[in-house]
Amino acid sequence: MLRLLFLSTPVGPLGSGIGGGVELTLYNLAKEMNKRGHQVKIIAPQQSSLPYITCQEIPGIWQEMIQSSKRDTPIIFPRNSVLANMWNSAKKVEDNYDLIVNFAFDWLPLYLTPFFKCTIAHLISMGSMTEAIDDMIRQVDISFPYTIGVHTQEQAKTFPFLKNFYILGNGIDVPLYKFCDNPSNSFSWIGRISPEKGLEDAILAAKTANVKLKIFGKIQDIDYWNNIQTKYSDVDFQYEGFFDTSKLQEKIRVSKAILVTPKWIEAFGNIIIESLACGVPVIAYKRGGPAGLVKNEETGFLVTPDNISELVHAIKNIEKIDRKKCRDYVEINYSLKVLGDRFEEWMLMLKK
Ligand code: UDP
Repeated sequence: MLRLLFLSTPVGPLGSGIGGGVELTLYNLAKEMNKRGHQVKIIAPQQSSLPYITCQEIPGIWQEMIQSSKRDTPIIFPRNSVLANMWNSAKKVEDNYDLIVNFAFDWLPLYLTPFFKCTIAHLISMGSMTEAIDDMIRQVDISFPYTIGVHTQEQAKTFPFLKNFYILGNGIDVPLYKFCDNPSNSFSWIGRISPEKGLEDAILAAKTANVKLKIFGKIQDIDYWNNIQTKYSDVDFQYEGFFDTSKLQEKIRVSKAILVTPKWIEAFGNIIIESLACGVPVIAYKRGGPAGLVKNEETGFLVTPDNISELVHAIKNIEKIDRKKCRDYVEINYSLKVLGDRFEEWMLMLKK
């Protein structure tokens, strides 16, 4: 039995959607590790809420989103930083745990690694973003071999200096997602509404293919969203809202397909496996995590990044995809059991 301390992302409370995919990853991992008899405690920003799991809530100012950083953006901390407060709490109780798992993509937890007695495992949830964080990941990789975990090979390539790291994949609670074999006519786009996620490409493709597009997710960059609404006011798209997992799957399962059009290198792409679990095929740019998650012409289509006409071609051919195969693919490759096996192996190895 492992005594595990999970430190959440400092960009916002769990359940808010601000943290993106890492929120679901942390939740699923906590659930699966508990089920396997391990003891999991979560430290997270104030107002965090997870179904059936309690967190120790820490006050403080959230960390800025790193997605819009430039390569040379320095590390910035607000006054009364929630990230600093969370790690201060962890320091006080570290003797009670076998392993601390860091879910923040940030400089401080990496920097603190040698100052803790307890081993810290770092789940790196994005591709390379800034030089300052890369430097710190490099140092931890050298001094604490295998404490760095990433989701995919495609993500790892953005850190070419990594030598001793784990590829952990990801997984979801597949039975929570209900299979749907009789979709409506509309397509969907799901994610944080923020420039790196490339919503405008999906809107353009929907317009050209003359199909309806439903949009789900947290509006993170309001200026970006307002611009989109003005610029594409003639297109048939609709913002549906941000939903918890159970509601989200209910709404997206009737989609003909989802469009995944990120401008950055996604580490993984939770929404891909969530959609496939419902039997919804995925049309994605062949870049980053999605390139390894979608099986071209089997569970959807991989298209040349930033190429709208290829998206349109895929939309027109979507009937060729067998929805049952999409579901089967996730059941085999991305279940909580698969997730748990990989993470448990990593954690047990680090405990020694
Ligand atoms: N999501 C959600 N409700 C919504 C839309 C999205 O909970 O209405 C979640 C979704 O389940 C997924 C996350 O938002 O876990 C997006 O993660 P992804 O890995 O696709 O991208 P990221 O935000 O990490 O870049």
